[in-house]
Amino acid sequence: MEWENTPLSDNVEDRRGAGGFSGGTGFSGGTGGFGLGAIVIITIIGYFTGIDPRVLLGGAEIVTGGSSQQTQVASPTASGVDDETKTFVRHVLGETEAVWTEVLPAQTGVAYKPATMVLYDGATDSGCGGAQAAMGPFYCPLDKKIYLDLSFFRDMQTRYGGGGDFADAYVIAHEVGHHVQDLIGLLDKADAAKQGGNQTQANAISVRVELMADCLAGVWAAHANEKWKILDSGDVEKAVATAQAIGDDRLQTAARGYAVPDSFTHGTSAMRVKWLTTGLNSGQIDSCNTFQQ
Ligand SMILES: [Zn+2]
Repeated sequence: MEWENTPLSDNVEDRRGAGGFSGGTGFSGGTGGFGLGAIVIITIIGYFTGIDPRVLLGGAEIVTGGSSQQTQVASPTASGVDDETKTFVRHVLGETEAVWTEVLPAQTGVAYKPATMVLYDGATDSGCGGAQAAMGPFYCPLDKKIYLDLSFFRDMQTRYGGGGDFADAYVIAHEVGHHVQDLIGLLDKADAAKQGGNQTQANAISVRVELMADCLAGVWAAHANEKWKILDSGDVEKAVATAQAIGDDRLQTAARGYAVPDSFTHGTSAMRVKWLTTGLNSGQIDSCNTFQQ
């Protein structure tokens, strides 16, 4: 992937080295932005579904639980150093901002407002409750921020057989895709629809939301490639391999030997690949209507 000459985003909040959750109110409950419950619940979900909680949200998740109070933690001790990975993240985020600022109003009439990307290591607070590396990257609609512990990129390579710079960019673009869904009102609609159904129906809605985010990542890649020729040969294949590696069926099979379709929340490997390539080939948001299929 070619990214050195693309726009740099200023919307990266670097909390690495900040030392995790905010002190004092954090675990006390009641007043703090973070409830211990969030982590416990995630761990329990992972336990009962047989999925490593680390990948349950991996490659993608929207967390809406946790406290409704938003505690934004200043991080005076955070390292402000632009190492290569942070520079890469700033470029990819900058590319999503440039593309969506143009494409979202042109194709939907909705103005694009950038999301903030929070880099952290280990644990940090989010508007949706405590974030920890084990949750994988996720988007919080309550504070419009994407939370990313960079160890996820290393894990994609070492544990899931994916990885590479374009695969990393695809993960970022997928999370930005959730922000786009938020801006066009789709996340609220999906949440409302989930309330009215049982768990199986709610999972089916989650799958459609996730696959749409994959497709929107493809739309971003199509326009970014048009603007800056970002794609090297083999990049799409590597992102497809990553999408395959983080499909629910593959993860479940790896975790316990068989897959249970009702519990899928991100889509099978084949579906993730299909929707990523749909967006990539069309460059059109309306090709990403996973709810009509
Ligand atoms: Zn997702």
